[in-house]
Amino acid sequence: MIKAKKSLSQNFLKDKNISKKITNLAKLKNNTVLEIGPGYGFLTDSILVNKPKKLYIIEKDKNLITFLKKKYSENKKIVIIEGDILKLNLNKFKDLIIISNLPYNISTKVILYLFNFNHNILEMVFMIQKEVAEKFDYNIKNMNKYKFLTRIMTSYLRHFEVSPKVFFPQPKVNSTVVKFEFKNKNVDINRANDFSDIIFKNVRKKIYKNLKIKKTENIILNKRVNELTIDELLWIYNFI
Ligand code: SAM
Repeated sequence: MIKAKKSLSQNFLKDKNISKKITNLAKLKNNTVLEIGPGYGFLTDSILVNKPKKLYIIEKDKNLITFLKKKYSENKKIVIIEGDILKLNLNKFKDLIIISNLPYNISTKVILYLFNFNHNILEMVFMIQKEVAEKFDYNIKNMNKYKFLTRIMTSYLRHFEVSPKVFFPQPKVNSTVVKFEFKNKNVDINRANDFSDIIFKNVRKKIYKNLKIKKTENIILNKRVNELTIDELLWIYNFI
């Protein structure tokens, strides 16, 4: 009998078509892949069909680790890591493909954490809560730090929505499957984080005031940060 822990956001997939659609979005063949929160291995099985070179799976739940060790005991491609994704160091990886039906209670935190390893990752395909998927989409108005960081490092696409019906237990929210492709390998993540801390610190203030520069006629610098388009925000990032 499968039990789900709310504290670990355990909503397990039960629809093979959906797991196939998710894995079809990622370049899995002959690549090194990391799956976050494999649960009972539903998505893991779809990943394996696509013949990755090596598949790392990290799971926090001890009972599930016992289950997974048995399930995949004969599989030489899989490396099972017992632990917390938010503590995993990805520095040793190169061109990593990350894929997950993420635990929704920490999905934003996980994505921001993984941005720190942008040099090690090729792409990430995630199922996340619909509203979180929108929060990272720089093509939607109302700038925030998530859209900014996503835009300077990746090209991002919301691919398709998923109904709560394909999970057990069913979550109370709708889901979206998204993909981040790390295009820009020259990003200084510390500079980007410092910039976003400053520029989003006081969203009611005009930009030039947040930047502590002299009063100016420049139209962009006289806007408030959430009035900017992503291109205007990038212009400021390159300007200062
Ligand atoms: N991949 C499975 C599926 O699609 O059926 C399970 C997805 S479920 C939404 C999220 C999984 O992440 C659970 O198995 C949960 O135990 C695991 N998890 C939760 N927090 C975690 C963390 N900090 N690090 C690693 N795994 C975690």
